[in-house]
Amino acid sequence: MTQKQILVVEDEEDIQELLRYNLTKEGYQVNCVGSGEAGLQEARKMFPDLLILDLMLPEMNGLEVCRQLKSDSKTHPIPIIMLTAKGEESDIVLGLEMGADDYVTKPFSIQVFLSRVRAVLRRGQETESTESDILNFADLQIHLGKHEVRVKEELVKLTYTEFMILEFLSRRPGWVFTRGQIVDAVRGDGYAITDRAVDFQIVGLRKKLGAVSKYIETVRGVGYRFADA
Ligand code: CA
Repeated sequence: MTQKQILVVEDEEDIQELLRYNLTKEGYQVNCVGSGEAGLQEARKMFPDLLILDLMLPEMNGLEVCRQLKSDSKTHPIPIIMLTAKGEESDIVLGLEMGADDYVTKPFSIQVFLSRVRAVLRRGQETESTESDILNFADLQIHLGKHEVRVKEELVKLTYTEFMILEFLSRRPGWVFTRGQIVDAVRGDGYAITDRAVDFQIVGLRKKLGAVSKYIETVRGVGYRFADA
């Protein structure tokens, strides 16, 4: 197997070194740059398997780097994990909606960081053909064809929109989705819903899921995630 290449764009030298040390130890090939401009150039040159992108960078910030890479069809497929600070929730939302895959808030534990890295790299290898008719979680089954949901074998009646939201989130356990992404995913057939309506739908969904409502996790200030515990 070839070594995965990771590009780190981070201007704080101690964090850059911490990431370089730990990612190298994990067997990745690591390149580090300290500015958004250099990150953009390097990403276009090396097409890394993963980009670790700090949002607070001198001159060109991380969001702008993300926007430029995700709006170019050549660099669009490069997965991005954003490094953010507490209180940057609105930037996280923007970044996710531009196509970033995940984020880690500083200060972070290196173990948490590495597990996110592994998860995002794994996603890249997943093929669309893992499509099955039923999504199975411990006490929750989601029958895609029949639009049926069972909790501990019991049939649970969901509305169309509730089902679509549950299906969308549960197809990608662990991913965080913003309200805007959820709206885009479940829109169609005249079922247009708004950001605020997503929250409302989630309340209803959790109520109906009862014991397994824990699967739908709120990510404060950002959105929701299906937590496959
Ligand atoms: Ca920074």
